[in-house]
Amino acid sequence: MNPLDTLVELSSQMELEHAEEARGLDTSREDQRDHSTTGKPACFTPKEQRAAFVHPAQLPNGKQVKLLKTLLSSACERDCYYCPFRAGRDFRRATFKPDEFAGLFMKLHQANIAEGIFLSSGIAAGGANTQNRLLDTAEILRKRLGFRGYLHLKIMPGAEKGQVERAMQLADRVSVNLEAPNTERLARLAPHKVFLEELLQPLRWVEEIRRTQPSYKFWNGRHPSTVTQFVAGGADESDLELLTTTDWLMKNVRLKRAYFSAFHPIHDTPLENKPAVDPLREHRLYQASFLLRDYGFDLEDMPFTPDGNLPILTDPKLAWARTNLIERPLEINRAEKRELLRVPGIGLKGAEAILQARRHGRLRDLSSLRKLGVISERAAPFVLLDGRRPASQLAMF
Ligand code: SF4
Repeated sequence: MNPLDTLVELSSQMELEHAEEARGLDTSREDQRDHSTTGKPACFTPKEQRAAFVHPAQLPNGKQVKLLKTLLSSACERDCYYCPFRAGRDFRRATFKPDEFAGLFMKLHQANIAEGIFLSSGIAAGGANTQNRLLDTAEILRKRLGFRGYLHLKIMPGAEKGQVERAMQLADRVSVNLEAPNTERLARLAPHKVFLEELLQPLRWVEEIRRTQPSYKFWNGRHPSTVTQFVAGGADESDLELLTTTDWLMKNVRLKRAYFSAFHPIHDTPLENKPAVDPLREHRLYQASFLLRDYGFDLEDMPFTPDGNLPILTDPKLAWARTNLIERPLEINRAEKRELLRVPGIGLKGAEAILQARRHGRLRDLSSLRKLGVISERAAPFVLLDGRRPASQLAMF
């Protein structure tokens, strides 16, 4: 197989791995009506549109890049029930040597087809050995080939602390996929992964290293960020379980973001007959996680149903506001920032803009809010403007 064919082969199932692609509705950008998309934008050339391994992505600093998402190897000795790469599944496997992948990437980079990398791998001869191959690849890219662009490196289950530290010295972002929210749920998805020791511990190490070592020792003089991913619904877990773990990670190991990948069955895996999870559930989980991260919401604020799930048809912020603000609307001219952030239609920028505008006079109508970037028709049922309720229809979603 020529290297480009190998890359196409290795990247073919990577849509299961959510990386830096914009996913879900980031409520922090609610004021921009940012319904994100994973499709390739028009700025991609026809050649790039066809390059299955390149995806439009937004970096942590907001920059848009063409991200190459791939595995170093699709050979894997583990047998996670949901995974297309699991051991024993019958399909053609492919593997790159570190220098082979690094050289190919640099050609794509120089041709402006790919600007950044998300690099993971199936596990062969143990997690530590596999991590070494990922680290070798990163070393070649950074040290020998002078690649200074974005690099997201996966930490393998079973990686050692020194390897985690080395990955942090080479990458802009490192990640460990927890897959499930706790030990019991993980056993139903990936019987040979050990939740606490193999998955949670590396995330703890990353945070310990960030706390104890100065940032100048790391790539580009910054501590890398960390993210994780869950297979939402794969283990019949509730949203409450997923969001409890997400909240804990954000508070205790400074997780930047959790990705949620709605389970869908893969042919020739033990879960092939399990029904797919509604992608809207993924969307609600993203919305709730942004509320926890950026909007001062607590788990107790989430509108969980008795079975511990979010209502699938309603934005969780809207559900909270219907319960808490309909009878007691918020006076926009007096509210504090944390209160403004609870109003549907008011995002982080909108709240700031309202505070600024109030220095120059009172806000009296919806058009003034609209000019500040607020989605005024969403906010209207929940606010007072100079003591009056604005005319509105209750938004349904
Ligand atoms: S270890 Fe990773 S690649 Fe291997 S079967 Fe599990 S999820 Fe798939």
